Amino acid sequence: MSTESVEIRVSGLAVQIVRKDIKNLHLGVYPPNGRVRVAAPLSVSDDAARLAVIGKLGWIKKQQAKFAAQPRQTEREMVSGESHYYLGRRYRLRVAERDGPSLVVLRNRTTLELQVRPGSDAKERERILRHWYRERLRELVPPLLTKWGAILGVREAAVGIRKMKTKWGACSVNARRIWLNLELAKKPVQCIEYLIVHELTHLIERHHNDRFVSLMDRHLPQWRHHRKALNEAPLGHADWTY
Ligand SMILES: [Zn+2]
Repeated sequence: MSTESVEIRVSGLAVQIVRKDIKNLHLGVYPPNGRVRVAAPLSVSDDAARLAVIGKLGWIKKQQAKFAAQPRQTEREMVSGESHYYLGRRYRLRVAERDGPSLVVLRNRTTLELQVRPGSDAKERERILRHWYRERLRELVPPLLTKWGAILGVREAAVGIRKMKTKWGACSVNARRIWLNLELAKKPVQCIEYLIVHELTHLIERHHNDRFVSLMDRHLPQWRHHRKALNEAPLGHADWTY
């Protein structure tokens, strides 16, 4: 797909315009700093894109203010008492220092215990928790892939898990590989399932067009609800599709 990207300024805002072979103009505000990006059909002029941005300035400012107010995951100190999420549930972190291998243990559906060697720093603790999230996703995702591959009638795709800054997932159609954001481990299972269905549907329809939406409507009628839940803090980006 050919794309062309330009940057314009609208009321002091830097706005990136990416032109693609798409039907609808799509306005997005992205973390961490509220970057504004317009994905526009090839036929839309800079002036038309500018007007669309002006029409949504209030909304954009509101999204940017939300990002500014959001606690940053990277600023976590990884000490006892902090809140951490797993599958949509909030856990209180308890750091237990001890010799031996590092472990993450869930207790009473309220406590996430991080067993670490004495003297471990925040970075090391974070690395251990990330590794644990990745392992949990590696357990959770394959059965969902198999289930939805069968329902959608797509040959099973490979899955990769990685940290992504602005997306929950992606699909390499030619490589038949879907990518999931590691942060998904913090979200409810239904959200993870929605994303898998979304990315697998790209193996049938590459673009977010009417056909794509009707496939989603048919297979997962409540997908909009899951998408909304997914884009609530943390990390979610705000989207506006015309
Ligand atoms: Zn998509």
